[in-house]
Amino acid sequence: MDLFAADIYASFVTMEKKISIKWPENRKFAACLSHDVDVPFKYNLVGLLKEVKQNPKNSLSPFYNFITRENPYWQFENIMEIEKSYGFKSTFFFCAKRRHIKDPYYHIKNNKIQNIIKKLDREGFEIGLHGSYLSYNNKKYLEEEKKILESILKKKVIGNRQHFLNFNQKTPKILEELGFIYDSSFGSTKKVGFKNNKYYPFYYGKLLEIPLNAMDAVLFNQSKSYEKAWQKIKKLIDDAEKKSTLITFNWHQRVFYEPEFRGWGKLYIQILDYIKRKNAYVNTLGNIAKLFENGRRVGYNK
Ligand SMILES: [Zn+2]
Repeated sequence: MDLFAADIYASFVTMEKKISIKWPENRKFAACLSHDVDVPFKYNLVGLLKEVKQNPKNSLSPFYNFITRENPYWQFENIMEIEKSYGFKSTFFFCAKRRHIKDPYYHIKNNKIQNIIKKLDREGFEIGLHGSYLSYNNKKYLEEEKKILESILKKKVIGNRQHFLNFNQKTPKILEELGFIYDSSFGSTKKVGFKNNKYYPFYYGKLLEIPLNAMDAVLFNQSKSYEKAWQKIKKLIDDAEKKSTLITFNWHQRVFYEPEFRGWGKLYIQILDYIKRKNAYVNTLGNIAKLFENGRRVGYNK
């Protein structure tokens, strides 16, 4: 295992221009599935008022749902079942503290949230930190958020993705100092693909950056139809295979609520189906990062 990891790292650092990564089990390429958790409850008070405002004629059912506590955005178990049926595990990024108007509304200490975090972890899914809106530039914030999440999880959190992908030159240094081994905020909120033609994970100091290649809303905003969205994503997967690299997806858990996000969940399943058929190596971002980390520690390149 170590030798293989060293292999990855060696080919990775020494052949910048012509990288060939050896993925486990002789797979040609790899894929990471991830879910940023922004809105786990559709019917909190704010969401309810918004919906009533948008659609005053149909305001009874959201009220009913609010009172009966029905929550169509609670798709965690559904996602776990879908992914498990393919033999895949994914990473869920949770926000640990609300500090800014753009931060998610849920409270990490909410019992339902704590329980689902523990359940995901027990079942082998990874929990990462979804750094709050202002934390990219503030070590104290990120440190506090990491600690809160770890106190629930009772283990170290090694990965981060920033909410809104906020990032500057200070962010990787902060993350590294706090003991994160990877980040996955390098991506675009406008276009799917390999941003700046960076086809492979790369390092900021000791921090591994795993680029984010495709986000649900970005893909659907960019595509005029389901079929066009599928063609775009299929081409990306084919590119990842050709370059023997890693492709990373982010599908927010709420978009599996079909009546509101028509076809988004279906397309996700189509992706899983396709990468399964193509025999991609699929693992959590944390486990992929550990492969690179082991290689770096073995010091293959000395
Ligand atoms: Zn977010």
